[in-house]
Formats: sequence, C-alpha cells, structure tokens
Amino acid sequence: METPAFLPADRLQALLELLTDDGYRCVGPRIRDGAVLYQTLDDADQLPRGVQVQQSPGRYRLEQTDSPRRFAWANGPQALKPLTFAPHEELWVGELQADGSLIFHDAVRQAEPVAVIGVRACDLAALSLQEQHFLQAAPDPYFRERRRQLLLIAVHCTHPSDTCFCAHTGDGPEARTGFDLSLYETDTGYFVTAGSPAGERLLARLPLEPGDAGRFDTACDEVHAAAARQTRDLPTGNLQADLFARLDHPRWQEVAERCLSCGNCTQVCPTCFCHSEQEVPDISGTRSSHQRQWDSCFSPGHSYIHGITLRQDTASRYRQWLTHKFGSWHSQYGRSGCVGCGRCIAWCPVGIDPTEELHAICTEVKAT
Ligand code: SF4
Ligand code: SF4
Repeated sequence: METPAFLPADRLQALLELLTDDGYRCVGPRIRDGAVLYQTLDDADQLPRGVQVQQSPGRYRLEQTDSPRRFAWANGPQALKPLTFAPHEELWVGELQADGSLIFHDAVRQAEPVAVIGVRACDLAALSLQEQHFLQAAPDPYFRERRRQLLLIAVHCTHPSDTCFCAHTGDGPEARTGFDLSLYETDTGYFVTAGSPAGERLLARLPLEPGDAGRFDTACDEVHAAAARQTRDLPTGNLQADLFARLDHPRWQEVAERCLSCGNCTQVCPTCFCHSEQEVPDISGTRSSHQRQWDSCFSPGHSYIHGITLRQDTASRYRQWLTHKFGSWHSQYGRSGCVGCGRCIAWCPVGIDPTEELHAICTEVKAT
C-alpha cells in the first residue's frame, strides 16, 4: 500500500468539526460507568486518552496508562448494533376512527446522520452480517434508514484483550472493508486511508501532512503484532454438521449448570438479531402501538409457540445459542455468526466461554 497521509493528533478535532459542519452527530468512545461506550462526541478531548482495557472471562476493567493514544482500548460492551437495530422501538401505530374503521401509521422515521469514530474491525464485520439479515434476508426499513445515514471511521486495533479472537475468525484486528475512513494510530497521530467516495471527499478536506513510510510500516507492524498476541480460537471449519451430530452431548447439561440464562451474551453480541414484538394499547382503547425490542434465545418467551415454551431448560437454550451462531448460520448467511469480538466471554457473569465449550463438543466429534 502507498504510504497514507498523516493527521497529527492535535488536528483530530478538525475531523470532528468537518463532520459536524456536514450535519453529522459525532459518536465515539467515551468512559461511562467504568466502560468504554459509544456516546455523542463534541470534542476530541472527550476521547479516552491512555485508557486500556483488561478483559477475561466474566471480567472487564479499565486501566489508565501514560499513553497519549485515544484508541488503545479493546472493545466495550456495545458494538454498532444499537445504532442501526434499536434495542426498543415503535414500528407502527393503529388508531380507531370515529366511524369505527382502523388506520395504521408506519413509524419509520428519518434517521439523523451519525458519524462513528473508533469503529473496530470486528464490529464492521458484525455490521456486514446484520446487513445480510436486515437488508437482504428480512428487509427492514428501520434498519435501512439508519444504516443509510451512518458514516464509519475505523481505527485499526493494536490492543486486543485476552478475550479477543478476531484474527482467528478472519475479521480483525485490521479493518479491511466496510469503513469510510480508517486510521492507523501512532503516539503522535494517525495515518488516514479512505474506503468509500464519502471517505475520499472527507480525506481531501483534512489538514493532512505527507506520511513517513518508515513510521507507517511500524504502525502496520503494531496491528500485525496485535493479531499474533491473540490466543483464543474455535475448532476450525464449518461446525454445523458437528454440532447437529451432538445435540445430546453431555456438555450441554454441564454448561447449563453454570449458565444463569440471563441473556447477557446475546445482548452484547454484535451479530445477534433476535427480537420480539408486542402491542401496547393506550388506556383509551382507541390507539395501539406495535413495538419491537431485542430478545434472546435465553428468554422463555423466545421459544413460546401456541401455548408451549419449546425450550424449557437452560441446556436447550444454551444449545440453541451455539447451534445457531456457529452452526445453522452457515446455511443462512454463508459463514458463522461469530466475528471473534469476545464480548460474550467478558460480559458473561459466570465467565462461560463459547470457544471452550465448542472445543469440548466439536473437537471430540472430529476425533470419533
Ligand atoms: S459469539 Fe461472542 S465472540 Fe462471537 S461475535 Fe458474538 S459476542 Fe462476539
Ligand atoms: S452463557 Fe453467561 S451470559 Fe449467556 S445466558 Fe448463560 S450466564 Fe448469561
């Protein structure tokens, strides 16, 4: 790759100002409640300078360092998912008219333009999977409208956590596609590349300096080193046949004895798209709001059909989560539903690690 131009760290504010001038609400990583969360960003000084993240099964802790870097953290509990697939929203409204007829109003709203800075490669891959679902398999106007208004500025990851395995799934830590702009972070600034026509236009207006080839090589080496530091992996290949061959494996019951069926893993997973819908009538009885919220294969209602909850125990719910995410997802979307972000490992309150469970179940299958 030709050496990209360089944006000195003290000019990052210029990028935010350009985006604001173009009508975007800027969103970026900020510290809240002891975690790195995507929030509205008014000033580059609000970025988490020197903050790094320690993650392990059931554990997530911030660590303040002397580093001048603002993107040296591994992912927080959020991905891009809430920005395109709302955790809770109204889909349509039905209203009773004076003549007894019913009128339905669609609740698709004009989405605001949002520019996200600091997007990780794993989350771009997850967004691409959500696009396969919400733009192709089950076209959704609510998702489409928000996605249309999203501008994405990736930062290649140099500080993965112990829970990350994006290098193994092939989704990171370097962002290869799906961004408008991408930044290679160094201590003094950013090498900037464009990934779309919108990114090219933005790049042309930034106060950039010529990039130094040697320093760019060092920045790339840091990203490659981040890949090499990852230790977790999955059993290789398409696990669909292996998983469905072992629906009665004793490991499902063993993991169920630890699992709280809380659904944290599915809520933090950037690719999970299951949801439920409900009618919320108002007290007058003349208006009803049809609403959608995120659901989880761990909730009893998720498998409730015609008066029966099909998956009554935790073992069958945990099995549903893994056999879909790592198994039948291949038939639906041509790959597994996992991008190796590791969130389900860090945010599981009892530290259950799907990579460990899959090795226990599928490695044995391969040996028989
Ligand atoms: S299954 Fe876990 S590691 Fe894979 S994408 Fe979902 S949260 Fe991330
Ligand atoms: S695996 Fe962990 S996060 Fe997922 S439902 Fe069970 S206890 Fe909750």
